[in-house]
Amino acid sequence: MLRGQLFIDGAWCAAHAGALMDVIDPASEQVFAQVASAQARDVDAAVRAARRAFDTGPWPRLSGCERARVLRAMAVALREQLEALARLEVRDNGKPLPEARWDVGDAAGCFEYYAGLAEQEDKRGAEHLDLPDGRFSSRVTRQPVGVVGAIIPWNYPLLMAAWKLAPALAAGCTVVLKPSELTPMSALELVRIGHAAGLPPGVLNLVTGLGATAGQALSEHKSVDKLAFTGSLATGSKVMQAAARDIKRVSLELGGKSPLIVFADTEIEQALEWIMFGIFWNQGQVCSATSRVLIERPLYAKLLERLAQEVARIPIGSGMKEGVLLGPLVSQSQLDKVRAAITRAVQEGASLVSGGSERPPGCGDKGYFVAPTIIADMRLDSWIWAEEVFGPVLCVAAFDSEEEALRLANDSRFGLAAAVMSRDLERCDRVAAALQAGVVWINCSQPTFCEAPWGGFKQSGIGRELGRWGFENYLEIKQITRYDSRAPWAWYIQAGQRD
Ligand code: NAD
Repeated sequence: MLRGQLFIDGAWCAAHAGALMDVIDPASEQVFAQVASAQARDVDAAVRAARRAFDTGPWPRLSGCERARVLRAMAVALREQLEALARLEVRDNGKPLPEARWDVGDAAGCFEYYAGLAEQEDKRGAEHLDLPDGRFSSRVTRQPVGVVGAIIPWNYPLLMAAWKLAPALAAGCTVVLKPSELTPMSALELVRIGHAAGLPPGVLNLVTGLGATAGQALSEHKSVDKLAFTGSLATGSKVMQAAARDIKRVSLELGGKSPLIVFADTEIEQALEWIMFGIFWNQGQVCSATSRVLIERPLYAKLLERLAQEVARIPIGSGMKEGVLLGPLVSQSQLDKVRAAITRAVQEGASLVSGGSERPPGCGDKGYFVAPTIIADMRLDSWIWAEEVFGPVLCVAAFDSEEEALRLANDSRFGLAAAVMSRDLERCDRVAAALQAGVVWINCSQPTFCEAPWGGFKQSGIGRELGRWGFENYLEIKQITRYDSRAPWAWYIQAGQRD
């Protein structure tokens, strides 16, 4: 049985109350690890350590190049340990091994990318402003925002940690990381790697624990300067409320119900490939999953028929098994939620084109498996069309005009991602411009790059991760203005009145 402790001020320690949480392998339903369950008192110790490291420690005072050396060493270690980390991620989360390998490689790439931005920041230096009043000179500098509370979900445990830690550490912040209670294991390894790579004590602290205790305590802690949260809309709202009390900086990456519009001139094989990747990748537990597909009517029946054939062929099983492309969902509770969503859709009049809430055949009797599911003929004001399921459940509808497709696509409180497919690239550009989403894919769905901003319109979040925009999340901007003239200011004290 694996064991995990908290990491506070450069040392591993038990939770104050000695409480532990079980970690379950979603393919076997077996407990394979136990980790410390932090209480408010442990979170307080972690935040204090991060505060000290920020206020008096070396990390924020190093040059960007010096910090970059540590981040690059973390990237190297991630790549060296890729296979072991990927296997740990599969046991924790359930995803197929090739996807987990991809995640570890991406996490390493993220540390390398932000190492590069930290180096550039040194070269960039202060920005001098041209002021109309020549008596003054002004420059703008950027400095780390302070102590960051990073709260992350279970769908990409290592990658979501990297998306927050890499830019925060590159900027010179110190961090308290709270992974999901469902998938804490790779965060333990990442912290070990960071420590070995040379992060000074207190710079990166880890509190494993429940959302309502450890997460809430971190959100409410007065010594946290910024909260960087990824998770559900409901929790994001609580985090934002907690942040409001002390005017903490806050960035939120929340859920979605992202549309993919397929025009009739799209090549059918290409459409199949991206529709399936867009919703069944990571068992559909992807914030940007294109879970609503809108198909132009002349292509609708044919594409739906082919989709049903292809989806029935997706190999389902333990993520460790060679060839598997759909693993179990992360937990019993997620399985219950997804099954309930499918049942509700059918009860409300939708038709099941493929899959369903029954246990898929050939998966044995253990593991949180659900078949890849396609739902059609739902009302466009129904729950299943509007709400995030966060599972392998695709809703499909037909449209008759570009205008109608856009109206249906944008008719959502979410706005994280969207996609459009057509051979007519002018039309794609026109539609991309009109889609209300922070990420728009043309003739594809889901590819994500460290260099490109990530985040949502509307209730999908606030702020952007990744790219230089993600770096700026962790920087405060300061103007330093100097009065250069020898002439008196002469407002209260006029010339001739001076002693
Ligand atoms: P969740 O909101 O249940 O949990 C996310 C994190 O918040 C966990 O670490 C949890 O312990 C913690 N938490 C729970 N209650 C808390 C509280 N009261 N105060 C502070 N922290 C608390 O989300 P989840 O089920 O882990 O993840 C799924 C959700 O995440 C989906 O809605 C998905 O769309 C979203 N997500 C968004 C992105 C993005 O980039 N926009 C990426 C991944 C996941």
